[in-house]
Amino acid sequence: MRYFSIERLNFDEPGQWSGSYRARHRWHLSGVDCPRYGIWSRLGAFPSVDLSAVDEPVLANPKGPTSLEEYKRLVALVRPFVPPELPVHAGGSFGPMVGTAQGKFGPVTCWPSWEVVLREDAVELLKAEGLKGVIAVRMELKSRRSTMPALYELEARPMARLHPDCIGEWKTPACDICGKPESFSLPSKRWLLRSTVPEGLDVFGVEGACLHVVSERFVETVQRLGPSDVHYRELPAE
Ligand SMILES: [Zn+2]
Repeated sequence: MRYFSIERLNFDEPGQWSGSYRARHRWHLSGVDCPRYGIWSRLGAFPSVDLSAVDEPVLANPKGPTSLEEYKRLVALVRPFVPPELPVHAGGSFGPMVGTAQGKFGPVTCWPSWEVVLREDAVELLKAEGLKGVIAVRMELKSRRSTMPALYELEARPMARLHPDCIGEWKTPACDICGKPESFSLPSKRWLLRSTVPEGLDVFGVEGACLHVVSERFVETVQRLGPSDVHYRELPAE
């Protein structure tokens, strides 16, 4: 099976679709001010995680970077509601995106570069064709057009890893004070570590990188619905 990451168009490439949205996830962990590394946060969203049982209003109205103490308190509140295999870290978002949308959307939208949105018929087709690992969470979007199809955010759980040879030596170490994971900047030439590719899944994410990886079967299926304003960039595995 071949794999591809879903990438947005370049700024100078004209798209075919007019759709745009302004939305944010229902819950968010702010950045943390670590005594060793200073303020940091990381992008990453798990829309399928429901934090409605957590009685802490600041998660819905984050107020910017917090102290280490406050951060640890919030992580301890959130952790029991997040599947153990998913990371909880500063900057992380949870729950459906809530906001407004306008225009017409293609089957797949990638904007900003770390978000992937599927049109309702794309979700239905992927499910009908039996694709595995498709976690698509309905976005709560208001629109002036009553006929706008529902949109779903595609969740990418970080299961695979990039090959250490493409990451190289330029890594920021993990921090045992605040729990910051090891980080690296995304290499322009990149490939997956084959032994970490989850077998049989058609969608997954990559540890430490904001990538939505999909199978060749995913690409072929959504392309039956017509063009999308995205690029599929092959991610070899070795
Ligand atoms: Zn730290």
